[in-house]
Amino acid sequence: MKEKGRFYSKKTKTTMGFNNDDRQMFDVDIKCAECSTQISQLPFQPSGDRPVYCFDCNKARHDR
Ligand SMILES: [Zn+2]
Repeated sequence: MKEKGRFYSKKTKTTMGFNNDDRQMFDVDIKCAECSTQISQLPFQPSGDRPVYCFDCNKARHDR
């Protein structure tokens, strides 16, 4: 079981509460289905049976 040090964060209080740290990132070791860029972190848990795209390709796909 992994625990995040959330309960110990009193001392490291950020000035404006403005860091993006509340989004959990998953450590992965896969390649982008589009450009084969190595991906080491994702904001979601990859299911394994769906292609995963890197940030750039994801953005490009959504921009279209
Ligand atoms: Zn890509």
